[in-house]
Amino acid sequence: MENTVNPALKEEPTLFGHPKGLFYLFFAELWERFSFYGMRALLTLYMVDVIFEALVDRDYATAAVYASYGSLVYASTVVGGRISDKILGMRNSIFLGGILMSIGHFVLAIENNMAFFLALSFIIVGNGYFKPNISTFVGTLYPDGDTRKDSGFTIFYMGINIGGWVAPLLCGWLAATYGWHYGFGLAGIGMLSGLIFFWSGIKNGVFGDRGLPPANGSIDQPFLGVKNKVMIPILSVLAVPAIAFLLSSYKALGTEGTFFGDQNIVNIIFKLVGVAILAYLGYIMFQANADERKKLFVAVLITVFMTIFWGFHELSGSVITLFASRNVDLDGIMSASQTNSLNSMWIIILAIPVSMLWTRLSKNNLNPRTPYKFGMGLLLAGISFYVLAISGNTANESGMVPFTYLLLMYFLLSIGELFMSPVGLSKITDLSPKRIVAFMMGVWFLSSAFAFQVVGFIGKQLAVESTDKNVGGFETLTIYTDGFLLIAKYSLGAGVLVLLASPFIKKLMGNVH
Ligand code: GLN
Repeated sequence: MENTVNPALKEEPTLFGHPKGLFYLFFAELWERFSFYGMRALLTLYMVDVIFEALVDRDYATAAVYASYGSLVYASTVVGGRISDKILGMRNSIFLGGILMSIGHFVLAIENNMAFFLALSFIIVGNGYFKPNISTFVGTLYPDGDTRKDSGFTIFYMGINIGGWVAPLLCGWLAATYGWHYGFGLAGIGMLSGLIFFWSGIKNGVFGDRGLPPANGSIDQPFLGVKNKVMIPILSVLAVPAIAFLLSSYKALGTEGTFFGDQNIVNIIFKLVGVAILAYLGYIMFQANADERKKLFVAVLITVFMTIFWGFHELSGSVITLFASRNVDLDGIMSASQTNSLNSMWIIILAIPVSMLWTRLSKNNLNPRTPYKFGMGLLLAGISFYVLAISGNTANESGMVPFTYLLLMYFLLSIGELFMSPVGLSKITDLSPKRIVAFMMGVWFLSSAFAFQVVGFIGKQLAVESTDKNVGGFETLTIYTDGFLLIAKYSLGAGVLVLLASPFIKKLMGNVH
């Protein structure tokens, strides 16, 4: 299709046909994700081997903290997005977020339990400011209706995954060769590099006047006698110990069969937030007209499907990393933390072929409508877990399965991701009434947050009880493969249901593809 470029933007410097600013944002986000995924590759093994080393239920504790961290790191984006819209603007938010995340990564290099929880909290608060704003920033580079926007986002998604591919390889290697804190330290350097890229973009004027604080001057207004621009960073830092407290309260509040059962504080908070969001959406739907109501209902549905998908997909940094370390024969190939790079590697390889597939199918009017893509995405996730489940049949005498299964598993899961994640993001904007589109974007980010609650639940179910650093082989094999089989069944079941419901969902979507 011919590109339509707003005449006003023609004067802006471009590179490869895209606004120059895209490339600064590309590298800033590449490095930020480098730090995020470099750290994530080490996180579970670091908790199991160092932080909770002495506990018999160290897997359980790790699963619980990992879930709370993941949920909060995505939920904070809703707050960070809002503060940016109303007060700070995107540029300041990205700086504030980047600095807080860098501090987090460097504090993580200190081997101490208190430092550990504080570090994760710095990353949670920092990510809340950084992630949503850099994504929205990309959107502002293109005027409404500019056909380059989609390919701009594809390029940006590549940056995300280049970071996600390289970081686990490098940080995992450093951690295994020189020690954990070198791995975490490199993640911190990555984040600082991201900030330098962003800063140089501003210095070179590639963003024009985008991302400045809102014109209402709220950034200079006082709150309790202190200007917002000073107060917000102060409050953000003060939030850190509070979040660290939440993360460290990973123990269940009750015992099985009691009211709270296996729930910790963060689990309860997310349940309440989930109910509140559904109630609010119910209220909005009640008020909306019939067409809006139908579309909004579909937006909610696809967010729920996405949550199920991420709930299984995000096991990669937790249960699948443990499985890789305990039951996959990685000898001479890579370390267990480095297997975290496989998803991004496949995304880099497959993103362009999959988007070309949609374009080609569109030409013949065969491009499947969104619900079908979602159904297939869930089916692919199911098959990918089925591959891991059957890998157990080929275990060698030490209970280790061939690496090829893990590679194939990530291949299928990554195709599933490409069928859902980029498609869903753009559909949410198309399906939501304009007045609540920002709120729906927040709900979309929250789908990742809620997914981590699923990850935590599964992680606790598959927790192995042992203080032995070398636990693995046949001691753990069937725990994992039985679990993967169950996940495969749920995901396949969900996929089939979505496909069966697709003709109806399609009707509700009206003119939205
Ligand atoms: N891999 C993507 C990213 O890092 C999406 C991850 C998610 O939303 N769970 O941006």
